[in-house]
Amino acid sequence: MKTVSDYFGSMVFDDKVMKSMLDENIYNTLKRTIKDGRSLNLSVANEVANAMKDWAISLGATHFTHWFQPMTGITAEKHDSFISPDKDGRVIMEFSGKELVRGETDASSFPSGGLRATFEARGYTAWDATSYAFIKDGVLCIPTAFCSYSGDALDQKTPLLRSMEAINRQTLRVLKLFGNEDVTSVKTTVGPEQEYFLVDKQMFTKRKDLVYTGRTLFGAAPPKGQALESHYYGVIKPRVQAFMNDLNEELWKLGVLAKTEHNEAAPAQHELAPIFATTNIAADHNQLTMEIMQKLAKKHDMVCLLHEKPFEGVNGSGKHNNWSISTNTGMNLFEPGDTPSENAQFLLFLCSVLKAVDDYQDLLRISVASAGNDHRLGAHEAPPAVVSIFLGDELTEILEAIEKDQPYGAKEKELLRVGVHTMPKFPKDTTDRNRTSPFAFTGNKFEFRMLGSSASVSAPNTVINTAVAEILKQFADELENAENFESALHDLIQRVITQHKRIIFNGNGYDDKWLAEAQKRGLLNLRTTPDALPHFVDQKNIDLFTAHKVYTEREMHSRLEIQLQNYSALINIEAKTMIEMAKKEILPAASRYSQLLSATIISKRSVCETLDCSYETEILTDISARISKAYKHLKALEKALATAEKTQGAAAQSVYYKDKVLPVMAKLRSEADVLETLVSADCWPIPTYGDLMFGV
Ligand code: ADP
Ligand code: MG
Repeated sequence: MKTVSDYFGSMVFDDKVMKSMLDENIYNTLKRTIKDGRSLNLSVANEVANAMKDWAISLGATHFTHWFQPMTGITAEKHDSFISPDKDGRVIMEFSGKELVRGETDASSFPSGGLRATFEARGYTAWDATSYAFIKDGVLCIPTAFCSYSGDALDQKTPLLRSMEAINRQTLRVLKLFGNEDVTSVKTTVGPEQEYFLVDKQMFTKRKDLVYTGRTLFGAAPPKGQALESHYYGVIKPRVQAFMNDLNEELWKLGVLAKTEHNEAAPAQHELAPIFATTNIAADHNQLTMEIMQKLAKKHDMVCLLHEKPFEGVNGSGKHNNWSISTNTGMNLFEPGDTPSENAQFLLFLCSVLKAVDDYQDLLRISVASAGNDHRLGAHEAPPAVVSIFLGDELTEILEAIEKDQPYGAKEKELLRVGVHTMPKFPKDTTDRNRTSPFAFTGNKFEFRMLGSSASVSAPNTVINTAVAEILKQFADELENAENFESALHDLIQRVITQHKRIIFNGNGYDDKWLAEAQKRGLLNLRTTPDALPHFVDQKNIDLFTAHKVYTEREMHSRLEIQLQNYSALINIEAKTMIEMAKKEILPAASRYSQLLSATIISKRSVCETLDCSYETEILTDISARISKAYKHLKALEKALATAEKTQGAAAQSVYYKDKVLPVMAKLRSEADVLETLVSADCWPIPTYGDLMFGV
């Protein structure tokens, strides 16, 4: 039998393959270029491309593609075959260095937010050589970044790579101050835990809302929801287990370190967590994971729902973004140290995150904003829309002791001086177990928990990296000029604690009392996507991203535009789907059932005038009234939608959809959901919540 270690990474053109297939000089040049992030010279690129092609063909590949992540949120690919005619009219298989390193793409149909005039339709993709090429479905995929010809980023990856550069630069400056001369580069690491739902394919296809929007727009609560919590970590059903086995195998072949799988809180909800990787690779792998989940679910006659809120009244799906910084010497910068100097360094990095999260609450919130995620954040199941940090009681008390120059702990009589005293040990497992915090310190990494399940992890990590880079820059500027490093460090840490401790919250984030408290502390509460997004281009945020060369101001405006348009477009589709379902399925079904009831009443009466028809009449009366109300909301929705479509300006339009369209959708839904409980099961035209959630 083949073991996992036999096939792990078998579809990846990784270091081992490169070493075995490339001439030693070529291999070394390639490695050096990757390490320094410079571009590859053409003769080396030709050699690499040729080896890649031979390797891919030996594994059955016939095509190649530049694989990239445009602003649509999904990955894009355009397949080209390796074939090329030879002079005898036969074909040979070719792949040049030029084709490997750079691709041309007609970019006119990808969202650009006005960055590209229509006459300048070309964009190009450039190989991200730090992420290995791989074979998927017989196609050699080359991970790339996607830009316009004028150099504007049109994708998620370019800014992410730039932000990794920024944090590398600033972290190295700070590390030098602590005497880490051997560290030459740092990389941020990410382990994204991915939640998803599985539903039966037959039932899925019968629901237009799921087909068009990925979430149910109607549906009465089933008698059994997640109330018993019986699903969480429960025994995995055979059909789901078979899917998970396939999924693991495919992911392992692609070198994705899929590690844990379990049932989640809601029925039919599951989670997959990989072992963490360098951020851009983790982002690529998460995109692949989502894609392969969807593909393999179909093979098992199921559909994988990645939407943030497929079912109302049931937990939605998120993505926990575990984040840390590692050095090339293997040090995790958020691992509390054993010596005073290691502690001091740890505390400074901890403070950089504290300040970054406080200064850029808005950007963190914006980086996870989407129409889908608006159904989760602040809805008593996911972190609130207010950003705060969880540090745990012990660490918080240590910071307080440092801030106030007070002794810490019962035994500790001395004051805690940074860089002089070893920090008291705090047990790791006291770190966040309440899981309601949006940004939790979990022992040696931070867990950002506000991400929606369907989104790329690129945008949130671009924000975290850049924000922390900026704070580290400020720290380095101050400390590099200090006369006495030790005391400057102590003062800086004290000051950061005093100024930013308002962002620390260790209590229950789902509690309404917290929202009131957060408001008192002056923390932002950007509840919805239209509330949050416009702050992206606030001057302080433009200053941040341009200073660290992560986004140009033009790119920021274009991204804002794309996201606002996305929001409106999604709600537009949802509203139209609702109208169609209400008109063609739900109201006709209720009307048909009314006819049955009336016919029954008439026929009963014809048998005997005094036969009791209370059941039929009461239900009929209720249904008739609900149909009228639903119809009224339906017409109101059509009207609101017409106005929404005509509203000028992306921001104003998104606000209109939020304030005027969504509430009418909710009203229509609530009548329809009551109708579902009144109409007989055999007349109801679409699978119910019970069918969907317990049907696998
Ligand atoms: P929990 O369910 O308690 O949140 P899991 O064990 O499911 O935790 O997931 C933790 C995630 O954090 C895993 O994906 C793991 O690889 C990741 N992780 C661990 N250490 C780091 C690190 N240094 N940097 C980034 N991610 C990390
Ligand atoms: Mg988690």
